[in-house]
Amino acid sequence: MTTKPLITLEHVSLTYPGSTSPAITDISFSVCEGDLTAILGPSGCGKTTVLRVIAGFERPAHGHVVISGKSVASANTWVEAEHRGVGMVFQDYALFPHLTVLQNVAFGLRGVTPNSQREKIREVFALIGLEGFESHYPSALSGGQQQRVALARALAPRPAVLLLDEPFSSLDPDMTERMREELLEILERTGSTSILVTHDHEEALDMADNVAVLNTGRLEQLGTPDEIYHTPTTAFVADFVGQADFVPGQVTEGKVVTEVGIFENVGRLKDSTQVLVMIRPDDVRIQPCETASARILRRHFRGSENLYRILLPSGQLLYSSDSSTVIYPVGTNVDIHVETLHTIVFLRDTQGGHCL
Ligand code: ADP
Repeated sequence: MTTKPLITLEHVSLTYPGSTSPAITDISFSVCEGDLTAILGPSGCGKTTVLRVIAGFERPAHGHVVISGKSVASANTWVEAEHRGVGMVFQDYALFPHLTVLQNVAFGLRGVTPNSQREKIREVFALIGLEGFESHYPSALSGGQQQRVALARALAPRPAVLLLDEPFSSLDPDMTERMREELLEILERTGSTSILVTHDHEEALDMADNVAVLNTGRLEQLGTPDEIYHTPTTAFVADFVGQADFVPGQVTEGKVVTEVGIFENVGRLKDSTQVLVMIRPDDVRIQPCETASARILRRHFRGSENLYRILLPSGQLLYSSDSSTVIYPVGTNVDIHVETLHTIVFLRDTQGGHCL
């Protein structure tokens, strides 16, 4: 369910002191009340900087940040971090090692009356399942338990906004899966509006209502997980959010002609235009055929699927995913059939540009 925007960034840019290039440039997006937005991108693309600007740890050189209808950063306004109603879970959790779990959580409630503090701590311990751990020190806790404490500390003051910086990066894969589910349940129960920073596209697609994809400090695309995956607007997004191949083609008699099939000319490009068609492995079906000229180079067994690497006669590689029980030996010649939901085409000489 989407309602009104609770966090809005307009044209936000920031260059760190001593740096010659901006960490983030002209970032604009909104997060609606109750929604979880993931900021996704490779290391160094500016994800944490966006989070720190929203939290009030960095002041942007340009732009405007609004939280709960109130301007918190602009050319004329600046609201300190502690007055923004924002809770943050840091990548390394940043728990105080010399304080107990109870004292760590209470740290987020400075300035609150003792009665109200007790009530809020009781509530958040019950919500996050920390009862019994009050007197433990962080060093005696597992990664997942430390994450719960960090989450409890951030949520205890009932912030309007929860910011999560790579919260699962220190956990092993089994624990990550469990904690993702737990976090989603907690966010739903508290009706939190949150932003999750991650470099893991599966995590972003799995958890978020919306995904903001960043590349070298710029917002490449903002959309639902389905939009980002199926209709990426740039080749960078297409490639970053999942396995994608870009097969060369040419517009001929109003169609896009490639060596793996003929596709719709979605951009109504002129004949002879050179293009790249984005193809995902789940859109590629293969069928063994002795006379076919494409060949299986490798089978990547992924547990729930087999991902086949196929060599086309031109030398182009193409990936095809199939069920884990469908096994073809390496070297098998295969016929290829590509069935895309939407044809995503990029101009060949501007691969990073917008799709057509
Ligand atoms: P991400 O979270 O996507 O890994 P960051 O927001 O941490 O990216 O960093 C964006 C860019 O800003 C990177 O080039 C990084 O080296 C630089 N950067 C981050 N923090 C600082 C800082 N305190 N001083 C100078 N440069 C920084």
